[in-house]
Amino acid sequence: MSSNYDVIVIGAGPAGYVGAIRCAQLGLRVGVIDEFVRKDGEPSLGGTCLNVGCIPSKALLDSSDEYLKAEHELASHGIKVGSVELDVPQMIKRKDKVVQDLTGGIKQLFKANKIEWLQGHGKLLADRKVEFTPHKGKAQTLDAEHVILATGSTPIDIGAAPVDQEQVLNSDGALELTEVPKRMGVIGAGVIGLEMGSVWNRLGSKVVLLEAQDTFLAAVDSQIAKEARKQFEAQGMEIRLGCRVKDSRKGKTVSIHYEDTDGKQNLQVDKLVVSVGRRPHTDNLTHDDVDLLTDERGYVHVNDYCETNIPGVYAVGDVVRGPMLAHKGSEEGMMVAERIVGQPGEVNYETIPWVIYTDPEIAWVGKTEASLKSAGTPYRTGTFGFAATGRARAMDKPVGMVKIMAHAETDRILGVHIVGPQASELIGEAVLAMEYAASAEDLARTIHAHPTLSEAVHEAALAVDGRAIHKAN
Ligand code: FAD
Ligand code: AMP
Repeated sequence: MSSNYDVIVIGAGPAGYVGAIRCAQLGLRVGVIDEFVRKDGEPSLGGTCLNVGCIPSKALLDSSDEYLKAEHELASHGIKVGSVELDVPQMIKRKDKVVQDLTGGIKQLFKANKIEWLQGHGKLLADRKVEFTPHKGKAQTLDAEHVILATGSTPIDIGAAPVDQEQVLNSDGALELTEVPKRMGVIGAGVIGLEMGSVWNRLGSKVVLLEAQDTFLAAVDSQIAKEARKQFEAQGMEIRLGCRVKDSRKGKTVSIHYEDTDGKQNLQVDKLVVSVGRRPHTDNLTHDDVDLLTDERGYVHVNDYCETNIPGVYAVGDVVRGPMLAHKGSEEGMMVAERIVGQPGEVNYETIPWVIYTDPEIAWVGKTEASLKSAGTPYRTGTFGFAATGRARAMDKPVGMVKIMAHAETDRILGVHIVGPQASELIGEAVLAMEYAASAEDLARTIHAHPTLSEAVHEAALAVDGRAIHKAN
């Protein structure tokens, strides 16, 4: 191990490991310190996203979707599969294998790029020195020209429901259940709560989500959120809004006390998932004599280029402002690497796509209708339902819509919102269009293959000008 680096990255999640690889591509000598240890005791690269976040949640969403298909959907295609049996431990094993393959892939990429993986804790000292404490062994001081902090985030705990990972779980625990609980409560109907709730609802749990806000998915365009809620409730998930959880008691079951507009309420469940958001992870990150500026919510303070208040020290990903999304962190990591070598890297924060991987999926980029209204921006809207596309019908997924908003005078696309099949893939076209400052007319004049789901995007763009073909405008 060397003690001198051009760049030391603390944290090997999608922000840190991507930044590290880009630094190495640009000829810099890079060391990455990461302290993550998985359940079998092995250190593992990839941070929250690969180990306990994006990837394992999608693996279980995909498995539970296959189960649902086998149980309820294949018969209508003329495929009889007999009685369907669920093997949850195998589902978890497959999820673990997906994670191991991907995290192993990053290890190979580090090798190929000659990046040193330092397994243990990193702490920022003065003068761009870093204290590295290996999992086994003594602390040592490393020197770097540049330090990138990419320490990510951890789940927020609430006093009313302390997590024990037995009966009261956070997302880590919700990804490890080996039996389907009869009844599951979820505190927080946000992205993670809805994804975890969907997995266990599909596998047979009676899922009730308790959300503090009065509005369902307040950050999502309200028309899209309304349609999504209808679908989730049709699937059996119960969504209760305006709930203030006061207390939870553990016995044979978990008894949750909460208040809503009707007064005091109680809910009995077998497992309770707490998914009320995540907080930036800065525990034991800086030495006492390092004056790293954080904001009032604990995020490391950075400018548009992810520079902290300390020259040569950068911060990227969930530990800084902006959406807590893997791809946002990765872009920041690449930007910082490029700026370190004097290239003009930047991140366009206006075109970061969001996705919720439920069924139907929800995806969006840009402004919501409510934000355009409150800003007084003149706009035109085009919507198109998947039910009118041949492909969604052939797939038996005629649910949801595409909604496009464009500036009323310039026609520039301001926001694209999708709820429906494969929204996560369809949003890519919208992001590209907005990145290139496209007009709705540009999308309307772009040829879309038939029959595809993307025809709904095409028709929504035509609908902005009142000329969708397969719809009465
Ligand atoms: P992290 O991935 O959190 O990585 C930080 C790493 O730094 C960790 O390995 C940590 O152990 C290490 N570390 C922290 N402090 C130190 C230290 N002092 N010394 C050494 N190491 C340290 N995002 C999406 O875009 N799409 C999704 O589908 C999605 N699904 C999600 C599902 C779940 C259940 C969860 C929990 C999150 C999901 N996210 C998703 C969010 C995504 O995981 C995060 O936005 C992303 O992981 C942030 O990346 P990061 O590199 O900033 O930090
Ligand atoms: P996300 O950040 O998308 O995972 O969403 C977290 C959700 O949890 C948001 O919808 C919050 O409104 C909700 N939330 C936060 N605190 C509480 C709480 N104490 N009780 C219920 N819901 C909460």
